[in-house]
Amino acid sequence: MGYCPRCHVPDTLPLDFDGDNVCSICRSYSEPEYLGLEALKREVERFRNPDGRYDCIIPLSGGKDSSYLCYLASRVLGLRVLAVSYDSGFRHPVAGSNIDKLERELGIDIKIVKSPHGDEVSFVRHFLMAARKAGVYWGICTFCHYAIEASVYREARSEGINLILWGNTHHENLWVGMKDKYRMLFSELRGIGPAGWVGFLYHAAVSAIYLFKLRSSLYLPPVRNLFTVSTPPYPPEGIHNIRVFLNFIRWDAEQIIGTLEREIGWEMPAAGEATERFDCLLEPFVNHSWKRSFGLTTKQVISSNLYRSKHLTDNEIDRIYSSREDGERLAEAISEVYRKLGIDE
Ligand SMILES: [Zn+2]
Repeated sequence: MGYCPRCHVPDTLPLDFDGDNVCSICRSYSEPEYLGLEALKREVERFRNPDGRYDCIIPLSGGKDSSYLCYLASRVLGLRVLAVSYDSGFRHPVAGSNIDKLERELGIDIKIVKSPHGDEVSFVRHFLMAARKAGVYWGICTFCHYAIEASVYREARSEGINLILWGNTHHENLWVGMKDKYRMLFSELRGIGPAGWVGFLYHAAVSAIYLFKLRSSLYLPPVRNLFTVSTPPYPPEGIHNIRVFLNFIRWDAEQIIGTLEREIGWEMPAAGEATERFDCLLEPFVNHSWKRSFGLTTKQVISSNLYRSKHLTDNEIDRIYSSREDGERLAEAISEVYRKLGIDE
């Protein structure tokens, strides 16, 4: 196995590597430009809502990026914030307690959205029963991709809010499309035998029914939203999405975490757990699938992105790539979800 000398990703990742093993992401990389805080202040000004209760919505997971946006919007930009948090039933407990602290310390309103019938848990249960023989879990996040955005847009519509501030970051781009992921899933399924296939198809079909039920219960017009595969739902007319860390402000972990700890009492999960995307208990399934199919975890892809954009030092990226404890911790976190759902692994 070779590694890209600029960002450390292994050449098992389905990217294009040149003669010197430099990956296609590094070859086309250029430092993003940011418009800055003053430009953001000007941009949000026209969305102040003279009659309504709120000026903007912030989708909130309880992780550091969305938590920081709540702080920034309410304390720095002076906006009246409604944070919308979709609770799938798989939220990390520390993320839940961070959400409570934000509500208390910032005095913002937080709307927790849960689906009325708990279809996520049924979806995940059948999804795991379908995928456990294959040992990779590509597609497990499908329900959430839809539910988060649909919850936010539904709330925007009912409250008459036109501005949404999103916490997406450049380094969360994982570069690999669904086509490659499904190719890896089907190569794992090749050896499971006829009985294995019957089980796979049955549970895959049942999980698809629960996915459809979940989307119906968080329905957002138009009807084609019920059938989108990997794209998010279509937003209602008039919604203005601002991706703060993509276009306006350079993301800086140290500053974000420092501010949140000081101002909110915000917490990270126990030492050793992934600091990126810890907020969902299903994240270990994603990490595990990456490791098995492409030879590295999502945490490592994200770290490579951070290293490329000079957010990590040589020592930090070396440590993340040589860490072997990931395997055991992932296996334990995965077993815990199986136990919680009462399924044999
Ligand atoms: Zn590279």
